[in-house]
Amino acid sequence: MRKNLLDFNYEELVEEFGKLGLEKFRVDQVWDWIYKKKVFDFEAMTNLSKENRSLLSERFYIYIPELLDMQISAIDKTTKFLWKLEDGNTIESVLLFHPDRVTACISTQVGCPAKCVFCATGQSGFVRNLSAGEIVSQIIAMESHRRVNIGNIVYMGMGEPLLNYIEVVKSVKILNHKKGKNISMRRISISTVGIPEKIIELANDLPEVKLAISLHAPTNYKRDIIVPMNKKYSVEEIIHAAKEYQKITKNRVTFEYILIREFNDFVDDAEKLAQLLKGMGAYVNLIPINPIPSSGELKLERPHHWAIERFKEVLDKHNIENEIRKEKGTDIDAACGQLRRRHKG
Ligand code: SAH
Repeated sequence: MRKNLLDFNYEELVEEFGKLGLEKFRVDQVWDWIYKKKVFDFEAMTNLSKENRSLLSERFYIYIPELLDMQISAIDKTTKFLWKLEDGNTIESVLLFHPDRVTACISTQVGCPAKCVFCATGQSGFVRNLSAGEIVSQIIAMESHRRVNIGNIVYMGMGEPLLNYIEVVKSVKILNHKKGKNISMRRISISTVGIPEKIIELANDLPEVKLAISLHAPTNYKRDIIVPMNKKYSVEEIIHAAKEYQKITKNRVTFEYILIREFNDFVDDAEKLAQLLKGMGAYVNLIPINPIPSSGELKLERPHHWAIERFKEVLDKHNIENEIRKEKGTDIDAACGQLRRRHKG
């Protein structure tokens, strides 16, 4: 059985190539073709001999997901991709264009087990974890289709990264590797619904990678309603883990807070959030909700402009660093999981 070469890290490939009688620098050459030149066919790797090329194609293939749909925002070039994987499952990735850099938002699972009520991904259920190669291939496929050089990566697409911990960590190390994409750990962020023990593991395994926690509410009462996983891992446990994480890494932690009209946008919520985060090196990302059709009782509407400002002022007053996230790609299916759902009909 041929194997997807993208699922191997550098050290594993050196070993695999060794078994074929290929020297270590052959791995460097192949990675250079893949990550720099975006060549995914061994036959086109002309600095390898014909024999070596056929040795490699007997043992490996390079799986790049098939592009099913691509939407480019006319406003800010935000590009949303829908990919088909080898087994027919579909996932999304997004490219975000900033004046000085291009950021990629990538998926870690097909669907998501967390099932947050405001998120389109969870509503379609959970199918499976992505392999490290499937995670990495989103980056090279986007670079290849849009001819850009991705400088920053956020693990913020479909799925819960810390529930696919091993493959996620492996993919980060592959993307960070000097001989590969060579993206600095500091330019990679992982966003999680908040899984305390995995947050601590991450602090030890990838201390330079940035962490974002999707908090969305300052009390268990409210968070239970929108983030079902909160019944398993409470707000207090998550904040405790975030503080431990900070002790280990010295990193600032970002907290994402989706603002939902007349649910969690009150002054009282902001005050409670400030109390929760005070004394920590916390940064709050305020995200006015991207409305999706609601399945439950709760109305998921964007807060009034003044309510968003009012929330921000309370955090400012308490010296909690924050920003209101500027929306990108508003003219395309922007919210997570929407493109995939539309294709499923
Ligand atoms: N499971 C991880 C990563 C995927 S979600 C996590 O929970 O962080 C990535 C971010 O998109 C999260 O902060 C999530 O809350 C946000 N998000 C999901 N649906 C959204 C919506 N409808 N509007 C605004 N943000 C949304």
